[in-house]
Amino acid sequence: MTRLTLVRGDITEQAVDAVVNAANSSLLGGGGVDGAIHRKGGPEVLAACRALRASHYGKGLPTGQAVATPAGNLPARWVIHTVGPRYLAEEDRSELLASCYRRSLEVADELGARTVAFPAVSTGIYGWPLDDGARVAVRTVRATATAVDEVRFVVFDERAHRAFESALAEAPEE
Ligand code: ADP
Repeated sequence: MTRLTLVRGDITEQAVDAVVNAANSSLLGGGGVDGAIHRKGGPEVLAACRALRASHYGKGLPTGQAVATPAGNLPARWVIHTVGPRYLAEEDRSELLASCYRRSLEVADELGARTVAFPAVSTGIYGWPLDDGARVAVRTVRATATAVDEVRFVVFDERAHRAFESALAEAPEE
């Protein structure tokens, strides 16, 4: 059984096996979580991302996919970079958002990671409404078979904390 936990804090301070980065497809850094992870992770993370761009992901990492690098100076072993979809009111892209969580857990299983910290993917610069983003996150993690023992949702502020609390309080779908 995977435990789902929720903490208010900074994703870059989580001592877990793997932290998930809300990356963009360039893999070369950006704002929000991505900027914080690259700042604290340092040159080892960036070098590994550049190597991915030079090999498998010449055109960048597609939306909904996930890939791992070492975590550099972060208190984690790996960073799992995933690219969330930008929110579009006129198009339902929630399957792509769900894919971020599913693929990240698959990568975590490939690594043998037992504790994984997720930010609220897409709910910042990419504009996804928090309540819905939290619901997709919790439902998808619950529905994914994984060897991960703890999935920790790490949120920055009170509003996000409330959104995840409500999502976690919903009865699991059978
Ligand atoms: P995206 O581009 O996928 O929307 P962002 O990094 O802009 O990603 O934001 C994702 C979520 O993470 C937002 O809810 C934002 O408030 C939150 N956030 C930003 N920085 C951090 C951090 N250091 N730790 C945890 N959560 C963060």
